[in-house]
Amino acid sequence: MSGPTDPTLRAELVATVRRFVQRDVLPVASDLEHADEYPAELVATMRELGLFGVTVAPQYGGLGLDLRTYAAIVEELAAGWMSLSGILNTHVMVANLVGANGTDEQRQRWLPVLAAGEVRGALSLSEPDAGSDTGAISCRAERDGDEYVITGTKMWVTNGARAGLVALAARTEDGITCFLVGKEPGPSFGGITVSRDIGKLGYRGLETVEMVYDRHRVPADAVLGGPAGLGRGRHFMLAGLEVGRINIAARAVGVARAAFEAALRYAQQRETFGVPIAQHQAIQLKLADMATKLEAARLLTVSAAERRDAGERVDVEAGMAKLFASEAAFEIATESMRIHGGVGYTTELPIERYYRDAPLMIIGEGTNEIQRLVIARGLLRRYGLDTR
Ligand SMILES: Cc1cc2nc3c(=O)[nH]c(=O)nc-3n(C[C@H](O)[C@H](O)[C@H](O)COP(=O)(O)OP(=O)(O)OC[C@H]3O[C@@H](n4cnc5c(N)ncnc54)[C@H](O)[C@@H]3O)c2cc1C
Repeated sequence: MSGPTDPTLRAELVATVRRFVQRDVLPVASDLEHADEYPAELVATMRELGLFGVTVAPQYGGLGLDLRTYAAIVEELAAGWMSLSGILNTHVMVANLVGANGTDEQRQRWLPVLAAGEVRGALSLSEPDAGSDTGAISCRAERDGDEYVITGTKMWVTNGARAGLVALAARTEDGITCFLVGKEPGPSFGGITVSRDIGKLGYRGLETVEMVYDRHRVPADAVLGGPAGLGRGRHFMLAGLEVGRINIAARAVGVARAAFEAALRYAQQRETFGVPIAQHQAIQLKLADMATKLEAARLLTVSAAERRDAGERVDVEAGMAKLFASEAAFEIATESMRIHGGVGYTTELPIERYYRDAPLMIIGEGTNEIQRLVIARGLLRRYGLDTR
């Protein structure tokens, strides 16, 4: 990122992404999603639009946009199909991790190819027995001459099979360290095997996989931040999750917007008892609550992004945005289904997809239970009572 994005440029970019969604995404999203098919052509257009380098500094070939613009772009993508914003999210987090904490060599090596979308990024923190409890990570990396040898099983790696770079959290004798693991996309590379493609309720069309590392060797300079980065991986990644949470909040706003707008349209078309259902007060109350929650969710998201753009730590604000927006998206998707009646439950309309996609935002990037703890601890730290 390189300074605040000019508002006119932001509006133009958001309009460009909205056109892409209208023209290319909406006509195919439901079919691809139901078939759980990777949207290769859409991803190619996202590359052409420069979206894989959205926050990467221009000196490395990126667009250098601020987070507020990124959040607005994510909202547009998610309003079309939430999975597209997931294809982008771990990638952008990896690029941000390298940009913020990488050595000069790591930035030179990885940022240009990440920005161009030539290499795709995956972020690998979670394990079968370490999700909320990131301190329980057991994947380990042992020094052997000029290399580290990595052994362990990582779970829930979104974009893991197609990634050419995995930001991997592994335990070294210094603590949890983040490794930049380069690989070829595909089912296996060196000692890495994609051991399971996890079936999902929603968030389909992109892979979330389990990956086994069996004595996989990486050069010692794969430690993010160089020797100074040893033992600091968890700190780097949790700070990076602030951006991930703003992404999740923006995605939730996008899904909620799509669900709300569909309900608003349908309520004016569908007639019962001789009038459009929008004239029944019970439906009006729903629409009012949905619109209010949507607006509040967007404002929290924009506010968190702006404060992070201003250089503040926003664990509290990003947590609040993620918590509120994801719960709002879930409620709005459910209400939209109710307003649509029977047809909302069918695969003929995208409402059922919003309803299946929304819960991911409650769980991903830290569950909402954990989010509340992050918010409370952040507040207590800020206002004097340190809780650790
Ligand atoms: C589709 C999908 C994609 C994902 N992609 C990625 C990815 O790309 N990279 C990655 O690293 N991870 C990814 N994740 C993992 C995700 O971040 C974890 O699933 C999440 O952090 C929760 O961890 P868990 O599933 O182990 O649940 P657990 O930690 O086992 O939690 C189970 C329940 O207990 C609650 N709980 C746990 N601890 C506490 C506590 N202290 N207080 C109160 N309640 C608590 C939780 O809120 C939850 O309700 C993905 C997950 C999904 C579902």
